[in-house]
Amino acid sequence: MVHTATSEDKYCCSKCKSCHVDFYSYKGRKYQSCLDCGYEEDRNALYTLAFDEVMIKQLQKAAKQQQVKNILQSMLDELEVKGPNAGKLLDSHLFIYEIKNKHPPIRLYFRHNLQTDEIYVFEFEMKTSEEKQQRTVAKIKLKVKNF
Ligand SMILES: [Zn+2]
Repeated sequence: MVHTATSEDKYCCSKCKSCHVDFYSYKGRKYQSCLDCGYEEDRNALYTLAFDEVMIKQLQKAAKQQQVKNILQSMLDELEVKGPNAGKLLDSHLFIYEIKNKHPPIRLYFRHNLQTDEIYVFEFEMKTSEEKQQRTVAKIKLKVKNF
């Protein structure tokens, strides 16, 4: 079992409302176990996240910056729970979304695959100019069209 440090405010026991919970996988399915009352619940409603190569490289670099790493982790946790509802729709044809963090400014881009219900995470960027953001979004759109 791996205790998820960022779980406190997001995952709570539906029986005793304690947020002191652990997650584990068993035979490919996800479960949540309450450390206070022992209640076990099925967490297979979580969205599956897939990461683009760009994002994987960015995550490896970000691992050295604690603050950025923590923000990304909480964005990804939220994404796992809420799926497309965690972000703002940028393109209603390609289903590209962004999640924003204000301090420090970070934007994370992802796509919701309606067929598989999978979330594909492209990349994130630190605060940049409006123009740079538009270029990033254009690059992602092109990538989706070429999938
Ligand atoms: Zn409980």
